[in-house]
Amino acid sequence: MPSVTTQGVVLRYSNYRENDRMLTLLSPSLGKLDVMSRGCRKLSSPLHSVSEMFITGEFVLYQNKDKYQLVSAEAAQNFYDLRLDVDRLTAAVYLCDLCREAAQTAQPQQTLYYLLLRSLAYMDYSAESLTAIVSAFLLSYASALGYTPRMNHCAVCMKKLPEGSARFDISAGGVVCREHSESAENITAGEEEWIRAVIKGGIDEFLRLPVKDAPLGLLRRYVETRLDRPIKSGAMLK
Ligand SMILES: [Zn+2]
Repeated sequence: MPSVTTQGVVLRYSNYRENDRMLTLLSPSLGKLDVMSRGCRKLSSPLHSVSEMFITGEFVLYQNKDKYQLVSAEAAQNFYDLRLDVDRLTAAVYLCDLCREAAQTAQPQQTLYYLLLRSLAYMDYSAESLTAIVSAFLLSYASALGYTPRMNHCAVCMKKLPEGSARFDISAGGVVCREHSESAENITAGEEEWIRAVIKGGIDEFLRLPVKDAPLGLLRRYVETRLDRPIKSGAMLK
């Protein structure tokens, strides 16, 4: 069987038979892959420590058509501390679920892969606000999928709007003018500025912005409306 070597991160697993696990892997070059990890639930297995959620590193896989089997892996990060705090664990699972939803097999996912690893690292190693980290991920994720919210023109009629227009319509996909604001919700000037700054500066921009302006609830509903389904783990976010 031919083997492939790829960078990857484990988005989830399900136990299989007595000692196996089916891993869902996100690879920057190969997209989303289901990978059988045989015998990994035995403590003595060399695959034991790398067949866990959030493990990131280099994976060697046997490929048989569209089926993959894990041969070996070298973990670069295990993001172990995420498991020690229920809020961080919930947020990390939510981000993984969002990646699983968006990624396809055999389609490169460099941007999603980068965004996920960056966010997991912030959650694991920094004292930054979880609300701000998840908000920055959600907005960058929406942009990566081609759903950047409109923040300068009315999302319905495209009329140029002044900053601080104060109305955001999730279904229309951004800020809206007074005439098109019947199904819109209020957004503070600070939240508007936060969204504009992260769109312009990228995911790390949240570090320079006030945590109170990170619009987590709005961005969650925005992203899940675009995906056309709720992501269950998101409902458990604080
Ligand atoms: Zn309008």
